[in-house]
Amino acid sequence: TPKNLSASSPSPDKLLGGLLSSASDESSCQSRYKSNLYRKPSPFPLSPYLAQKLRKYEAYHKKCGPGTKRYRRAIKQLKSGRNADDSECKYVVWFPCNGLGNRMLTIASTFLYALLTDRVLLTHVAPEQEGLFCEPFPGSSWVLPGDFPENNPHKLHIGAPESYANMLKSGAVRNDDPRSVPASSLPPYVYLHVEQFQLKLSDNVFCDEDQAMLSKFTWMILKSDSYFAPALFLTPMFEEELARMFPQKEAVFHHLGRYLFHPTNRVWGIIRRYYEAYLARVDEKIGFQIRIFPEKPIKFENMYDQLTRCIREQRLLPELGTVEPPANTTSGEAGKVKAVLIASLYSGYYEKIRGMYYESPTKTGEIVAVFQPSHEEQQQYTSNEHNQKALAEIYLLSYCDKIAMSAWSTFGYVAYSFAGVKPWILLRPDWNKEVSEVACVRSPSVEPCLHSPPLLGCRAKRDVDVAAVKPYVRHCEDVGFGLKLF
Ligand code: GDP
Repeated sequence: TPKNLSASSPSPDKLLGGLLSSASDESSCQSRYKSNLYRKPSPFPLSPYLAQKLRKYEAYHKKCGPGTKRYRRAIKQLKSGRNADDSECKYVVWFPCNGLGNRMLTIASTFLYALLTDRVLLTHVAPEQEGLFCEPFPGSSWVLPGDFPENNPHKLHIGAPESYANMLKSGAVRNDDPRSVPASSLPPYVYLHVEQFQLKLSDNVFCDEDQAMLSKFTWMILKSDSYFAPALFLTPMFEEELARMFPQKEAVFHHLGRYLFHPTNRVWGIIRRYYEAYLARVDEKIGFQIRIFPEKPIKFENMYDQLTRCIREQRLLPELGTVEPPANTTSGEAGKVKAVLIASLYSGYYEKIRGMYYESPTKTGEIVAVFQPSHEEQQQYTSNEHNQKALAEIYLLSYCDKIAMSAWSTFGYVAYSFAGVKPWILLRPDWNKEVSEVACVRSPSVEPCLHSPPLLGCRAKRDVDVAAVKPYVRHCEDVGFGLKLF
């Protein structure tokens, strides 16, 4: 880890090997070039093909994005009530669902989908999300303008008549012979509802027939609660392109997330102040993220016990001793400082771990310093200030050398994926138990987990275990039926 790193020291590779465009203005979004100085270099080399693809996308977005005459023309067509015959610019409009971690995973998935299908990505930014992220695409905006005609999030649900699955059912579209369908005979937009339904991904469209049909629509509106990027890898027509973009499949979110998400100067201020105050000068940083889900409550004592078991078994922190190490200790570890960063809505874990290392010495003479930036007590999806802190903590966690996190949490997925660090996952107790027998397991991949798998082949009647047939997909450590690229 670079020690005593000052945020102003210029990096030899600010653009992360070509991941970031050089066309962005540095001062309006300082985190874009500074944040990565707080991390070790990425263990995943970027494919030049992906870099090229991103530059091409940026030019396309600039040509078709909000404020351009092409955008105005496309909006006019949308209002006309019919799809266009052949349009120069196509769009996918992302609508939010759930908390910040979920949103970041679905934005990245939607962006990957946009790259694969030549669509411009626009995001509906709700008040609680305003001012969190910088514009990712130089010279343009990814924010959906407020006067977008289909701006009502309440229309977007599994039963919406505009959803692709429902249009197939009602006969408004057919997918048996997409080539014979004139584009202008289609409705003005299509809605894709990519959410978990009965443990599966609904509106299952990850097959060639459906994609051929969907590509005819100029406008697509998409809402998802799932990291559906792995599902794109299961679509035959995307396979070759994805292989060129991501020679290492486990680095999909790692690269796309680092490309897309840059905290605004305001949030970066929170991150930078905290990092410089508590983390910049330590020898090692260890992040613990403890997430208790309201629908699956775990008693504090049980969670705390599981965390300390994980720490002990995986040797994440130095053991406690009973006697002070002698003053002339020469052990290589003595005097080194390990920082523990805790992200949690509650302060109890921090209090207890800090107390432990305050009251007792470590056997090696190492110093353990424990920090927790905030404890918000309640999750508040609709508070902007709350989300600023959540984003800051995701970033602070992502600067850690080791990360242990709660099962099922997208908040944690984003942090370890940014870091490029394989996490230890604190497993959920079995459904009929209060305590998990295994405290934690190490994930072999830095990819997030897709909690609800799609059906292979879309309208196939038989349910195939994707992980058994695709060598680059496995089940997640924390979600048995979930899928993860590796
Ligand atoms: P998930 O529900 O764990 O998958 O993660 P999400 O990010 O989608 O939703 C959880 C939300 O709860 C976050 O976005 C935060 O608003 C809040 N939250 C959960 N854990 C923490 C935490 O450790 N720190 C802060 N500041 N907020 C948290």
